[in-house]
Amino acid sequence: MASDQTALTAGLAVLTISLAAVFGPFLGISPWWTTVFTAFALGALSLDAARFGGRGGHLLAEALPGGKARLRRIARHEAGHALVAQAEGLAVRRVLVGSLAALQAGLTCGGSTEFDPPATAKLPLDDLRRWSRVLLAGMAAEDLLYGESVGGADDRALLGRLWGLSGQDVATAQLEQRRARREVAQWLRQHQDELEAEAEQLLERAPRLGHPIAALSL
Ligand SMILES: [Zn+2]
Repeated sequence: MASDQTALTAGLAVLTISLAAVFGPFLGISPWWTTVFTAFALGALSLDAARFGGRGGHLLAEALPGGKARLRRIARHEAGHALVAQAEGLAVRRVLVGSLAALQAGLTCGGSTEFDPPATAKLPLDDLRRWSRVLLAGMAAEDLLYGESVGGADDRALLGRLWGLSGQDVATAQLEQRRARREVAQWLRQHQDELEAEAEQLLERAPRLGHPIAALSL
C-alpha cells in the first residue's frame, strides 16, 4: 500500500513536471526560466555578447590606428568583470576582446566574458550579491577610468533576470544592486593599477585585422 502511494506520488510529480514543461509558456511560468536556463544549457554564462554592437565595420575600425582606443575601452570593461570574478571566487572561462576575437569564437560582439553558470537558477542571497558585483564590474570599471559607462544593458538585463528568479522583492533587488555597485566601485578604485594592467594584457592579446601578432607589434 505504502509503495503504491509512493508510485502514485512519483507519477503525479512526473506528470506535473511534464505539464509545466508543456503548458509553462501558456501559464506565464516561462520567461525567466527559459531565458536563464537557455543560457545555462549552452554551458556558459556569457556577458556582453550583445554589447558594443560588433559588425563587419567594427573589424575594420579596430584595425585602424584609432581602433586601439575602442579596444582598450572594451578590454577595461571586460577586465573589470574578470578581476572581480577572481576576487569573488567565480571561475572565468574565457575573455574575448575585440570583434575579431569574438568572430573567431563564433560571436558577433565586441567583447565577452564567460563564466561557468551557477548550479541553480534560484540563487541564495549571498550568491546573488556575488553575481551582482561581478555583473556590475564592467560598467564600474568604465565609470572609474572614463567617468561614464557606455551601455552595459545586457549586464543589467541578466542581473534583472537572476534577481527575478530569486523570489526576492523588487525593492530588495534594487537596494542590493545599488549596494553592489558601490562596493564594486570602491574595490576597483583600490585595485585600479591591477585593473589597468589586466586590461593592457587583454589588449595585447586581442587580434586585429592586419595585426595578426599584435603583442609583437606594440
Ligand atoms: Zn559587461
